[in-house]
Amino acid sequence: MEAKLERIALEAREALLRATSLEELEELRVRYLGKKGELTQILRGMGSLAPHERPRVGQLANKVRQDLEDLLKARTEELKSRLKEEMLEAERIDITLPGTALLTGRKHPLTAVVERIEEIFLGLGFAIAEGPEVELDYYNFEALNLPKDHPARDMQDSFFFGPDVLLRTHTSPVQVRVMERTAPEVPVKIIAPGKVYRRDDDATHSPMFHQVEGLMVDRRVTFGDLKGVLEVFAREMFGPQTRTRFRPSYFPFTEPSAEVDISCVICQGEGCRVCGMSGWLEILGCGMVHPRVLEMSGYNSEEVTGFAFGMGVERIAMLKYGIDDLRLFFENDLRFLAQF
Ligand SMILES: [Zn+2]
Repeated sequence: MEAKLERIALEAREALLRATSLEELEELRVRYLGKKGELTQILRGMGSLAPHERPRVGQLANKVRQDLEDLLKARTEELKSRLKEEMLEAERIDITLPGTALLTGRKHPLTAVVERIEEIFLGLGFAIAEGPEVELDYYNFEALNLPKDHPARDMQDSFFFGPDVLLRTHTSPVQVRVMERTAPEVPVKIIAPGKVYRRDDDATHSPMFHQVEGLMVDRRVTFGDLKGVLEVFAREMFGPQTRTRFRPSYFPFTEPSAEVDISCVICQGEGCRVCGMSGWLEILGCGMVHPRVLEMSGYNSEEVTGFAFGMGVERIAMLKYGIDDLRLFFENDLRFLAQF
């Protein structure tokens, strides 16, 4: 029996030292030290030994078991730490590898232009106002001096939801809403950027487009103030060499009214295809707020005056970037959008 113990001890030791995985170690533990393991069997067979042999063999068996258990524990620790090292090695970051470039998006040209317009007018002391895109006939037309039978309504083919509700055809109703809220206090100095809707669809018209409205109401506001503000705007937007020209025009909500041209951004006034050889490009409409509009919004037109202007954002973006088809803004073609 002693010889058998020695053999098992030797065999087990060698197997434990050879093992290369935790699974193998577990198999060996079951084979030698488990409930049905070889060493356990021997210890159970002690009863058949002569009484005087029992203490010696028992001592030896215990020593063998203790040795094997110690070795198993040491090998387990060793393999575990080797495994951990291998995993760390596999996960180590190689800082010499080239990085993955993150593709950053960019602003849509219309967003960029609106933000630039806002920046310029904020710098001139204007605040930014907003109004609803689904608007009442009263704010979109009537309060702007366009009563129900006014012929100028025909110029703004509209999307109506019912007799009195429509998608706003311009940002001008925001003027009325702001004046109603503020009257009779002055000054009012706002711009109102936003979407507007009309039944038009071709290379230069879209059923949805963007405008920026401007309004200033105060005591003694003059046409000179309007010219000054718009000249600063034109130079900031299109460059310091830009000249402006005011031509008489007609809008129901301003009196007098004017269209504003800037010197052509392409030919600087020499005359080219873009400006139709005139040297000028039309960029916006403006005028002094009609006394009736002031009165309807709660101001005394004997005490305060105001100016207003409205510009098309697409038009300004097309001139600024030399884009010839309005529809490019809304097709979401990255080959186009990535150019800005
Ligand atoms: Zn030109």
